[in-house]
Amino acid sequence: MTDIGVKKELVAGRPDLWLRMENNPIPSCPGCHEPTAMRAILEALEELDAVGDAVMVVGVGCSFAFQSMVDLDYLVCAHGRPPDGASAVKRVLKGDHVVFTIQGDGDCIAIGAGALINAAARAEKITIFMLNNANYGTTGGQLAPTTPLGHVTSTTPGGRTPAHGYPVRVPELLATFQGVAYTARGAMNSPANYQKTKGYIKKAFAAQRVSLGLSFVEMLCACPPNWHMTPLDSLKWLEQTVIPQFPLGEFKDVQGASGKTQEATR
Ligand code: SF4
Repeated sequence: MTDIGVKKELVAGRPDLWLRMENNPIPSCPGCHEPTAMRAILEALEELDAVGDAVMVVGVGCSFAFQSMVDLDYLVCAHGRPPDGASAVKRVLKGDHVVFTIQGDGDCIAIGAGALINAAARAEKITIFMLNNANYGTTGGQLAPTTPLGHVTSTTPGGRTPAHGYPVRVPELLATFQGVAYTARGAMNSPANYQKTKGYIKKAFAAQRVSLGLSFVEMLCACPPNWHMTPLDSLKWLEQTVIPQFPLGEFKDVQGASGKTQEATR
């Protein structure tokens, strides 16, 4: 109890897997959701008791910074190539290792589209996390394959129109591949969506653990500086403009995966 009679209680600590927070602060911009997405992945690993078995594979983008900040074995790949690196790690390690990529939308479905599609076609037993911030965040906020219609970027100052092409919906696309076991899309804009997304992450890991095929989770993330919005306004934009064009939910959960997943996530 404090001297004014208010009981303080810690309701959520940081995941043990976050490293050196005091001396090595997270370099992301204020209001960025990428550290929140990384946190959800770390919490899922800890809750699944998969910490010692996990290997993280990163490419190029803002999420690249996480490799030096989390207590996991990791591999750094060339831009867009994490699915190739993760496939190699998974095949070499064999056993129960949980191998996952963490990639921005540019790394995953722009320069890395070929690697992603071919890993899905090969039914690699890996998990891919795509952080979709609707632009090329690291290089100044240019139009990306995942930019929603109407969204202002540095290369579409009047907002994206159909003349610039239409956004790519990756979980829906990958759901059509026979070798893909699980796809879903979550968002980091509210506690409820965070918890739902963590559930998707756990199911994706569980699908990998029982070797059902490739699993994929997209996470919608705000990027306030490149959206030219305050962090609070970016939450509203994500809710009102991004989510209607990128619906949340699961798009594939192969027959029998749910039951196996529940067992594997206990
Ligand atoms: S540019 Fe965007 S995605 Fe990158 S760290 Fe800043 S807010 Fe996050």
